[in-house]
Amino acid sequence: MSPAKNQTDCIFCRIIRGEIPSKIVYEDEDVLVFPDINPITPVHLLIVTRKHIPSLAAMTDTETPLIGKMVKAANKLAREHGIAENGYRLTINSGPDAGQIVPHLHMHFMGGRNLHWDH
Ligand code: AMP
Ligand code: ZN
Repeated sequence: MSPAKNQTDCIFCRIIRGEIPSKIVYEDEDVLVFPDINPITPVHLLIVTRKHIPSLAAMTDTETPLIGKMVKAANKLAREHGIAENGYRLTINSGPDAGQIVPHLHMHFMGGRNLHWDH
């Protein structure tokens, strides 16, 4: 596999390869979902592309349909967690100003309490 698809030292690629244990709660051909190791909400999952894409800003036009796949997985998870009605938040941090730490495209799926909007 080319480095762009799966990077040796990327923490999320290592989870995807099973080298770092994580509880995968959903997976399909394009995305995987596992709990954030440092949850900030009662439900805090990471929806991660199988393909190593460094950031939202780095996505090519052929890759952007993956965002729809991520949203589809999120909506399924919301129903499964019983929070589709009460609400949830999807966040993608891209770049340093947004506080992106892990350079592998991921969407935060957060819910389970009233989420504030103060930043
Ligand atoms: P960000 O890049 O700012 O969108 O955030 C990366 C997120 O990945 C943080 O919320 C971390 O808690 C989370 N994280 C880092 N390492 C792991 C890991 N090994 N397993 C699960 N989540 C992780
Ligand atoms: Zn990666």
